[in-house]
Amino acid sequence: MKNKYLLLSIIFCLAITGCAKSFMPLKRTQLAMGTTVEICIADADLNADAKLDAMAKAFERIHQIERIMSSYDQASEVSAINKFADIRPVGVSADTIKVIKRAEDLNKLTSGAFDVTVAPLVELWGFGPQTRPSKAPGEDDIKKTLNMVGMDKLKIDYAAKTVRFMRRGMKIDLGGIASGYAADCAIDILKENGIKNAMVNIGGEVCCIGRSGFGRPWKIGIQHPRAKAGLLATVYIEDKAMSTSGDYEKFFFRDGKRMSHIINPLNGMPVADMPASVSITASDCMTADGLATAIFVLGPDAGIEVLKKIKSVEGMIAVDKGKNIEVYATDGFKR
Ligand code: AMP
Ligand code: MG
Repeated sequence: MKNKYLLLSIIFCLAITGCAKSFMPLKRTQLAMGTTVEICIADADLNADAKLDAMAKAFERIHQIERIMSSYDQASEVSAINKFADIRPVGVSADTIKVIKRAEDLNKLTSGAFDVTVAPLVELWGFGPQTRPSKAPGEDDIKKTLNMVGMDKLKIDYAAKTVRFMRRGMKIDLGGIASGYAADCAIDILKENGIKNAMVNIGGEVCCIGRSGFGRPWKIGIQHPRAKAGLLATVYIEDKAMSTSGDYEKFFFRDGKRMSHIINPLNGMPVADMPASVSITASDCMTADGLATAIFVLGPDAGIEVLKKIKSVEGMIAVDKGKNIEVYATDGFKR
């Protein structure tokens, strides 16, 4: 999660174009979840103190979720799960249970492409908290590590709120979904504090309610995956979330192929040369975040098929064809 990057900083900038000029909505940024977090409030009828108070609470909620779900913080709940859940059931918070439950649902919906037990593979390929090994893992290492991966080996006792791994060495990584969850939670806090028009952006995981400062839907730009300052598309969202997963912030080259930080849990390999980016809109950011990661694994054809089957979810997949970027999208996204 540490490198939930300064990913999609362009999205970040464009998401706030609705935060400018004439009526000035209130905007604040902080660092959290390994990235820049921005909260923008566009309610015209509240005074600045009320907005700042709501924002402070929303930021604190995001920090709280980071303290629970970070793989980089040895004191986090996820670190405790990863240390002990292969020996005994580990008690977890309601937040973690909620996220793991959604991760299970998404795992089923995406035929295993989204899998939070992918952590040992993430580490094997050097995308985890440790530094990358100088040599790429061999077939045997990958095979051995695959034995420790699979949601079927993760037992959740919802009544007792415990998590247990069925294989030694298993670990979870919530980096593909936790930021989306945190954006949803921050929006909930803002709503509880009387805010009706706001945007929360956690490194490209964007969740919006109401309208922007111009009385228009929030305008979100999607970064061109091969032109740092360029845009691939612009979308307008209202009471919705959007997440983008890309291969352009965290990757390395091997045999001329761009190996991304997203791992295919079925073959143990980093996704290479398939989508350059995937953007998903959904009614909540946790779903958008998890699905963007999953569709990145599935690629354009299987990805669009999965998206068509899920209600209120739309998506766009950009594939690098060398000379140009080919874009696939659901009908709803095109609109
Ligand atoms: P995102 O940027 O939301 O697509 O999340 C990428 C992060 O999710 C990676 O850095 C890993 O921590 C984690 N991850 C990688 N592959 C998967 C996968 N197949 N399913 C779930 N999480 C993954
Ligand atoms: Mg994700």
